Amino acid sequence: MEKNFYDLVIVGAGPAGLQLARELTSSKYKILILDRKKSADDVQYNTAGSFINPKQWQLPEEVLHPIHKMMLFSKNERVEKQGLGYVINRRKLLNFLERECRKNPNLEIEYSAEVRDAKTENSEIKEIYYSKNSRRITARARIYADCSGTSAVLGNMLGLAQEKPLLALGIEYVVPLKEGADEIDLFIQSSLKGGYGWIFPLNNSRAIVGYGTLEIERFPIVEKAIKSMWSISRVAERCKRKPYEKNIGLLRTGAPLERLAKNNLIIIGDTALQANPLVGEGIRFAMDSARIAAKWVRKALEKNRPKLLQNYTRDWKRKYYRKYWLAFEIQNRLRETTSDDNFMDRAVKGMEMLSNHEFCRLLSGDVTHFFMFRLRIKRLLKKKINRLKKFIGLTSG
Ligand SMILES: Cc1cc2nc3c(=O)[nH]c(=O)nc-3n(C[C@H](O)[C@H](O)[C@H](O)COP(=O)(O)OP(=O)(O)OC[C@H]3O[C@@H](n4cnc5c(N)ncnc54)[C@H](O)[C@@H]3O)c2cc1C
Repeated sequence: MEKNFYDLVIVGAGPAGLQLARELTSSKYKILILDRKKSADDVQYNTAGSFINPKQWQLPEEVLHPIHKMMLFSKNERVEKQGLGYVINRRKLLNFLERECRKNPNLEIEYSAEVRDAKTENSEIKEIYYSKNSRRITARARIYADCSGTSAVLGNMLGLAQEKPLLALGIEYVVPLKEGADEIDLFIQSSLKGGYGWIFPLNNSRAIVGYGTLEIERFPIVEKAIKSMWSISRVAERCKRKPYEKNIGLLRTGAPLERLAKNNLIIIGDTALQANPLVGEGIRFAMDSARIAAKWVRKALEKNRPKLLQNYTRDWKRKYYRKYWLAFEIQNRLRETTSDDNFMDRAVKGMEMLSNHEFCRLLSGDVTHFFMFRLRIKRLLKKKINRLKKFIGLTSG
């Protein structure tokens, strides 16, 4: 059996794993990334709406398709907002991140390499085993990062990842786009029972029509659900039902985790439930979490003290924990009301009074209790002013 030694082994070359390696390109550490897919851009699905800031991540233009208008539709209401968002081209993003990582001469990336097992002692990972070309290979490292997304292959072994997380299933059709290359649409209504729909343009002529649900009993019928989206006039107006591609993807979600590190293991990205629970935006958050983690991986390696990895949990929680809890609570509330068109019509109508900025904040999961409180007050004031206006109109008439 072959055996190789590293400072850091990263399982998963998705946004979390590649960004973690990217953050460490200037270090002298020997890093191995393992992924079971065939290449960086061997992706399972394309949907990737994002409020990412390209400057913050030094992303080239080709990776992002800009969006200037967002519309939210319930059965009888619609709200339109202006604002800058993007649809990320997943393949191009992953290729770009991989190129960045490879600037590190001490980095190895192995594709078609599936991690299947690990040897643990006292809740510490001693070595991991992966298969490549029917060979079983052992890799040893000082630190391990589980960025394997839904698999959570090492996180599950050490009991760090949640064993039974909430799962969201998404189905997407890549279809011809007839109009509105810079407009995103979101749909919430009872005909999409227990789920929501979206149109994300990929470029001037193609878009993704997607349907996602957290209701496990709906998983077997998502294909039917996505087809039914063409009964929504807006979908039929904008997109032809002639899919070039059909894809299905799973996302781990749920309440934020209490621990992201245990001995010499950290978990990042979907493994750590770091996609925002409200709308499932995950790429930006996986990359940011990798950045937070990288700081402590570097220090733990420098000082040879894996204990320092605990600071990743602390820093991540300081930045995200409360927001995630709130977003998770809002998501739960929405799930209870997805079959109530009256409620959703009122909610969508109520969003008219949000500024473009507030609307983007809400969708991007940048929510605090104070922010939600301010929105409630704003709504109450607006109602009172409307009543007053009506009253003045009536009395003067
Ligand atoms: C249908 C759907 C729609 C989504 N829409 C959006 C959206 O609009 N915007 C957005 O920002 N996010 C969206 N997300 C979420 C986003 O895709 C994830 O949050 C993001 O990809 C997480 O990155 P990651 O690196 O943690 O995991 P992943 O991207 O899942 O990467 C994990 C990698 O690990 C590899 N792997 C898994 N198991 C093993 C193993 N045993 N051995 C070796 N390698 C392994 C996989 O091949 C994969 O490459 C969506 C997700 C789904 C499913």
